[in-house]
Amino acid sequence: AVPAGLVTSADEAGPLYRDARAAPERRVRDLLDRMTLDEKIGQMDQIAVARMQGDCRAGGGGLVESCMKTVLGDHATGSVLSGGGMGPPRNTPGDWARMVNAVQRYAVEKTRLHIPVLYGADAVHGHNNVLGATVFPHQIGLGATWDPGVAEAVAAGTARAVAATGIDWNFAPVADLARDQRWGRYYETYGEDPLLAGTLAAAQVRGTEGTRGAKRVAATVKHFGGYSVPANGHDRVPADVSARYLQDTLLAPYRTAVEAGAKSVMANSGALNGVPATASRYLLTEVLRKQWGFTGVVISDWEDVRALHTRYKVAADYPRAIALAVNAGVDMTMEPFEARRFTEGLRAAVRRGLVGRERIDEAAGRVLRLKFDLGLFEHPYVDADRADAVVLGADRALARRAATASQVLLRNEKGTLPLGPAVKRIVVAGNHADDIDSQAGGWTVGWQRVPDGVRLPGTTVLDGIRRAAPAGTQVVRPKDAADAVAQARTADVTVVVVGEKAAAEGEADSPRPELAADQQALVTSLKASGRPVVVVMIAGRPLALGDAAGTEGLLMSWLPGTEGGHAVADVLFGKANPGGRLPVSWPRRTGNEPVHHQQLPGTNVGAESAHDVAYDFGAGLSYTGYGFEAIGLGSSSVPAGADVRVSVRVRNTGARDGETVVPVHVSRPVSTVLAPPRRLVAFTKVRLAAGQARTVRLTVPARVLAVTPGDLDGSGTPRVERGEYTFTAGERRTTLNVT
Ligand code: BGC
Repeated sequence: AVPAGLVTSADEAGPLYRDARAAPERRVRDLLDRMTLDEKIGQMDQIAVARMQGDCRAGGGGLVESCMKTVLGDHATGSVLSGGGMGPPRNTPGDWARMVNAVQRYAVEKTRLHIPVLYGADAVHGHNNVLGATVFPHQIGLGATWDPGVAEAVAAGTARAVAATGIDWNFAPVADLARDQRWGRYYETYGEDPLLAGTLAAAQVRGTEGTRGAKRVAATVKHFGGYSVPANGHDRVPADVSARYLQDTLLAPYRTAVEAGAKSVMANSGALNGVPATASRYLLTEVLRKQWGFTGVVISDWEDVRALHTRYKVAADYPRAIALAVNAGVDMTMEPFEARRFTEGLRAAVRRGLVGRERIDEAAGRVLRLKFDLGLFEHPYVDADRADAVVLGADRALARRAATASQVLLRNEKGTLPLGPAVKRIVVAGNHADDIDSQAGGWTVGWQRVPDGVRLPGTTVLDGIRRAAPAGTQVVRPKDAADAVAQARTADVTVVVVGEKAAAEGEADSPRPELAADQQALVTSLKASGRPVVVVMIAGRPLALGDAAGTEGLLMSWLPGTEGGHAVADVLFGKANPGGRLPVSWPRRTGNEPVHHQQLPGTNVGAESAHDVAYDFGAGLSYTGYGFEAIGLGSSSVPAGADVRVSVRVRNTGARDGETVVPVHVSRPVSTVLAPPRRLVAFTKVRLAAGQARTVRLTVPARVLAVTPGDLDGSGTPRVERGEYTFTAGERRTTLNVT
């Protein structure tokens, strides 16, 4: 039904923009033609739901009608978000759905043009905002799976839950690269490698946007671009990066994810080479739109447009800051605190001639286009009574599978693992063994971590081991560290679970990313028991082990989520054969950051290696063995700019079925500009039965082989240099001649 008051004599059948059969661009045009400047400006604003009452002088702190009138009515705000930890006081899925519906109902029923709002949230590892939703592993763990299928399935599961609570916009995936262990958002990435991260981020985009649940959900590639390399490892500290590094490495994963069809991109909060990304026309328009062809919505990050004035001081006042951002390419401003700030600011910028009306039409038009694409005009509401049933406890099997696939076994001496029938007494030491909040990581129910007093349902490592232990095997949980050391002396094995405390932005930064001294001391004392010790690490980054190195076993579990305890136990007892591989390099010690495998030639000089790793990027053991038997090329010579076809024959040489990564690397004897000695150019994950061999075929897109030439300006266009390229899979190698 067409809302009363909207029908004019010109459109008896109802306004064109409400006609679902009309082409979206015509609907956008029609709607823009009916809008006032203020209404268009409103579409470009996003406000935090918890702050709505900041606009509502009369409101006593709830989502009262008068608050919505101010924000959605008076300021015609186009979008609302629940940032981490900013949800309503009760956090059940049903509560969320009702709240989102209430916001939506106001927009759809009480505003002049009945335009629905876009509702955004950070569901970065499942629908982590709501209590009772299954928490999947954080991205770094999914990076360790090297399996786009897993990333896609997890994204689809997340989108189903998100959609069931009425939310249509997810601020994920993170396509930043994990290059510096000190940086606290390291775990939100897919690891350090551009090809791996881009492939998985693209899978996450497909999983998010391909879902047909109660609603459709848009993905957001963030934080574009180069967010992850703050100069000193502290979040949002300005970075200086060469144009070449940016182009050839840092931007690559965003591009892959954008090309997978992401409907939105979030700008990096930081500044690169003296220019805040939020104000960078080069990044937001030249690269993103002109070079990559992106047509969706660019949103700025939390309060970042204001920051151009207050923090970075590149704008003399807020209207000028808005003008910088909008003219650079920001379509929507996350201005969480007060709707009037942005609307009044942009109005002033227009009055002063700093922003043109065409640019406002363009930006508001893109936001409206997204709303049409998501079907919001036709289906603005969600069935709130179904939300609990859809979300609570959903996808636990998938979460367990994803967490299991993310486990990386790094050390296994004397055949300690898997734990066999001879193991009759297991001591499970370390605080992290019984700490579901650490397992879940940051961005869980609250922003930094699970808030005090909230009990997150899930399976800890201790629970998992207890359930998985065969009948007759005793699982001992010591009272404290001293008791653990005493018990370990009579144990068949001690599993000691160590790690970090969950935290998010800022709080998670660590100047010394190493295992805490008390945990190193505990492991050292356990080693002295003379009995086998297996270290399980629950952390968002590889922590330098210090004195804790050298145990019989080391299993990296990352932040495995609510089913993580099952995953760890499945690997320890051999129910699962570990197939995860490091998506990052594991530094032996702190002080050499940034550590990653793409160090340039000349990095390792002097007595002490600067790239001193305990475990390499890609490392990971299994309970079987694999061998690469051959590598071949579609052709031994290709013209520069052509894709390269590679085949690899891989065999499971052991006695157990398993999954392994088939990576193809390229190295070059000579390159005109410094290039990493080994670059990952293709990979796949294969499942092989014991003894089975398979030939896998991979394509290396020409662009993966390209480097940006040129002198110090680094401003050339990336191209594939002519000459010899050595392709390797394990010990196998073959040479390609690029002509
Ligand atoms: C983070 C973003 C997030 C946003 C909204 C910011 O502080 O940098 O990743 O999407 O908040 O919660």
